[in-house]
Amino acid sequence: MTNTPVDRALRARAAKVIPGGMYGHMTADERTMPPSFPQFWERGEGAHTWDVDGNRFIDYFCAFGPMLLGHRNPVVEAAAAEQARAGDTLSGPSARMVEFAELLTGTVAHAEWAMFAKNGTDATSAAVRVARASTGRTKLLKAAVAYHGANDWFTPKTVGTTPQDRLNIVEFDYNDIASMEKAAAEHDGDVAAIILTPFRHDAFVAQELVDPAFAKAARELATRIGAALILDEVRTGLRLDVRGAWESLGVRPDLTAYSKALANGHAIAAVVGVDGLRPAAADIYVTGSFWYSAVPMAAGIATVRTAAEIDAPELMRVAGERLKAGLEAQGAAAGMPLRLTGPVQMPLLGFEDDPELKKAFAFTGEAAKRGVLLHPWHNMFLSTAHTAEVIDDTLARTGEAFAALNS
Ligand code: PMP
Repeated sequence: MTNTPVDRALRARAAKVIPGGMYGHMTADERTMPPSFPQFWERGEGAHTWDVDGNRFIDYFCAFGPMLLGHRNPVVEAAAAEQARAGDTLSGPSARMVEFAELLTGTVAHAEWAMFAKNGTDATSAAVRVARASTGRTKLLKAAVAYHGANDWFTPKTVGTTPQDRLNIVEFDYNDIASMEKAAAEHDGDVAAIILTPFRHDAFVAQELVDPAFAKAARELATRIGAALILDEVRTGLRLDVRGAWESLGVRPDLTAYSKALANGHAIAAVVGVDGLRPAAADIYVTGSFWYSAVPMAAGIATVRTAAEIDAPELMRVAGERLKAGLEAQGAAAGMPLRLTGPVQMPLLGFEDDPELKKAFAFTGEAAKRGVLLHPWHNMFLSTAHTAEVIDDTLARTGEAFAALNS
C-alpha cells in the first residue's frame, strides 16, 4: 500500500521505545518484507485484515497460524465473551481446564492427558522435559534447521545464548532415515526424545511432505531405543488432521505440542501425551502466571469443537487447491513460473530461478498493493473463512499483480 502515514508515524515512534523498532518474526522492515507491507494492524474479520491506515488485505498470514476459523470467528468469540463475563485470570483454573483436556484427549488419537501453557515454545519445552524426566536421559534429536521455539536451545539466532545451551541437541536430516539412525547410534543409551514437525516447513526453501517410511522409521526407532517421539504440531495443529497430523499414516507420537490455532487467536498452548508418560508429566515443574486463564480455554474448546464438526482441514484443503492451481497457472502464463509447496492448507510460495527472492519480493509487494497479503519466504496459512469466493477475489488481484510486473 502506498498510503500508510499512520504506519510510518508508528514506526518512527516505535524506533524510539522498542529495541530495533520491532523484534521477532513479525518484524516488517525492508530487509524482511517488501516495502509495501505494513507493520501495524488495526483489526481483522473473517479472511480479511486491515492495517492501521485502513487498507484492507485478504490475509494469508493468518497471524502466522492462529487464525484457523477466520478473524473474530463468532462462535469462538461468543464463548470467549461469555467466559470473560465470569472471569479470566482467576486465583486458580476454572472448570474449562478439565473440559478442554477432556475434549483434546477425545479428539487427538494418542492423547490420554493434556497440560496447558501459553506459547508454542512452552509446549515444545515442556514436552522435552517430560521426555527427559521419564527417561533420565539428556539428548534431544531434531532435524537440522527445523524451528521448535525461541528458547536458548532451539533459537536459530544464538546471540545471547551459550554453546552449552545446545550441548544436548543432536541434529539429523529430515526425511533421511540413515542420518536419524546415525544420530541415535552416536548417543546410544542417552537419547531422551526425537522431535519432528509433521512435514518439513523450514522458511526460504521448498516445503517437503513427510516420507511415510520416515515417519514410521522415527516411530520404530523411538520405541526401539526407549525414547519419546514428540510431534511438534505448533504450526500444523488442526490444519492437517484434527486427530493428529500423522494419523492417516498410522503413526502416533508419544507427545504432541500444540499452540497457534488451538484457540483461534487466543493465547494457549497444550502438550498432550500417552499414558506411559503421565507420571513424568505429573512430576516436572512447569507453570506460568497466565497459564490457567479461562478465556483462552473457553475459546479453545469452541475452536477444537468447531474444527472437528466442520472438518476444517478438508475445507482448507479444497480452498488451498484452488489457490495453488490459480496462482501456478497465473505464474506460468506471465512467464514467471512459481510453485506452492507443502500441504495446500499452509503453502510456501517460491519462484523458479529466484535465489535472492527478488521475484518473490516483487510479486508479494505488488499483491500487497492490491490488497492481498502473501508471504515472500515463510509458509502461509489459509483459514476456513477463505472460501472459494475469497480465493477467486485473491486470484483477480494477483492476476493484476503479475500484469504490473510484466508491464
Ligand atoms: N514449533 C513450531 C513448529 C513453530 O512453528 C513455532 C512458532 N512459529 C514454535 C514451535 C514456537 O511457537 P511460539 O512462537 O508460539 O513460541
